[in-house]
Amino acid sequence: MNGMLTRPHGGTLTLPMLAVLTHGFGYDVPAMRNTRWYGTGRWLPAGVDAITLGNRVYFTPGSLESLSPREWFGLIIHEMTHRQQIRTDTLAGFYGSYLLQSVTGYSRISYEKEAYYAHSQAIGGNRRGQRAQGTCLWEYRLAGAMQNLAVGDLLLDSTLSEAQKISALTQLCRSWRIEQLSAHLQATQNTGLTGRRLHKTERLKARLQAKLVALRQSYDRDYN
Ligand SMILES: [Zn+2]
Repeated sequence: MNGMLTRPHGGTLTLPMLAVLTHGFGYDVPAMRNTRWYGTGRWLPAGVDAITLGNRVYFTPGSLESLSPREWFGLIIHEMTHRQQIRTDTLAGFYGSYLLQSVTGYSRISYEKEAYYAHSQAIGGNRRGQRAQGTCLWEYRLAGAMQNLAVGDLLLDSTLSEAQKISALTQLCRSWRIEQLSAHLQATQNTGLTGRRLHKTERLKARLQAKLVALRQSYDRDYN
């Protein structure tokens, strides 16, 4: 089943999975497309399922088979969040601050925090069992649209063509992303803040607002 998301050993993500990452998270396509997945991570420390090194992801042998599609999906989102971070911050910047911060503990690494956030948004809870605050992307569906299929159903469907899956997933994920951004904006409060923190929060709110308007306009143009 997980082969519907990741092609076999040394392979890349499938096109429907790439559509989810692009439209659900706004991740950059070339970086996602060039990433290859290897099940040879025997050397990974206990409790770590996968690691992203440059454009390769190494995962523990057997995890492709032993994890449920939903868990595997969450792992893909987590690792691809790192891939995106490497792209935005450059390789040296990413590993430099990753190593610096890892001295204070794995869970304090800001890159990990961001990745776990994306992961929990995607599967509805991370490996430590925390519930997601947001909508669960795997189970996300649009009432009355896409034959009522959820993102996870569509990814695992073997009756639809790849093109049909991509087109349905694109709409679902674009709609999901708008909901996520809108929730993020609402949760970003500036009351009680002063000085630099207020300034920073206001800048963030303005950025989110602009992004949201742009996404909503293009969504309405394409689907309404
Ligand atoms: Zn990680």
